[in-house]
Amino acid sequence: MQGLLVSDGLTSITKAIVPVHLYGHPANMDEINKIAKNNNVIVIEDAAEAHGAEINGKKVGGLGEAGIFSFYGNKIITSGEGGMITTNNHILYEKMKYLRDQAMSSEKRYWHTEIGFNYRMTNLQAALALAQLERIDEILEKKLEIFSWYHNYLNNISSIKLNPNLDNYKNVYWVICIELLNFSENERDALMAKLNERNIDSRPYFYPISEMPMYPSVCTPVTKLISKRGINLPSYYDMTKDQVSYICKELKKLL
Ligand SMILES: *Cc1c(COP(=O)(O)O)cnc(C)c1O
Repeated sequence: MQGLLVSDGLTSITKAIVPVHLYGHPANMDEINKIAKNNNVIVIEDAAEAHGAEINGKKVGGLGEAGIFSFYGNKIITSGEGGMITTNNHILYEKMKYLRDQAMSSEKRYWHTEIGFNYRMTNLQAALALAQLERIDEILEKKLEIFSWYHNYLNNISSIKLNPNLDNYKNVYWVICIELLNFSENERDALMAKLNERNIDSRPYFYPISEMPMYPSVCTPVTKLISKRGINLPSYYDMTKDQVSYICKELKKLL
């Protein structure tokens, strides 16, 4: 690893912490903000999967220096592709607006004062995103309902763990998460194949970022363990109770 380890996994070259509000449940921002403050680094929230999630009644995306949201097709609301950054820092806001517009000078058209990007959203995408935003309460309510159906069918099975929801946190249940507590990675993959034979799509949990080749390998045993035994079950907005019932019945048979 480059840089001297200082504390809490930070090194002497760490500039920012990017907590992920994974699968719709907020990260522990109180602890993370404390660590950031003690080490003089900023916090950028990855809220790509967590539109509307809250800690103590405060929305994610407003709990760090900046927050990012994704509007990709499989996210809570979508504009096909695209996203949004939130911040209360006016300097950062101006800088981001400038960089996304090819770093063009505001005084002199087509004069670029540094290397920028074209991260502009098209009007068509923005129109779709705004229409989605008008429906976000309805969408979040349906997400909660889908989770409650799964919860009713599955919460009495001791060998699995469903999405958690810590006290004072509001989970928005972007996708249904099942941890198969006694499963190896191979057993998990075999279960997914059997679900597939019954026309039930599923996904494995994400790989730990610390295992990807472009990052220094750091020891994250909990992440490693959980990523091998987790699956995501169908969670899309239009699901019916009958579909959830069928999925849970088949899953119970296989377990
Ligand atoms: C989807 C996602 C992203 C990427 O968002 P894009 O809009 O595809 O760039 C980043 N972080 C998390 C946690 C995501 O789920």
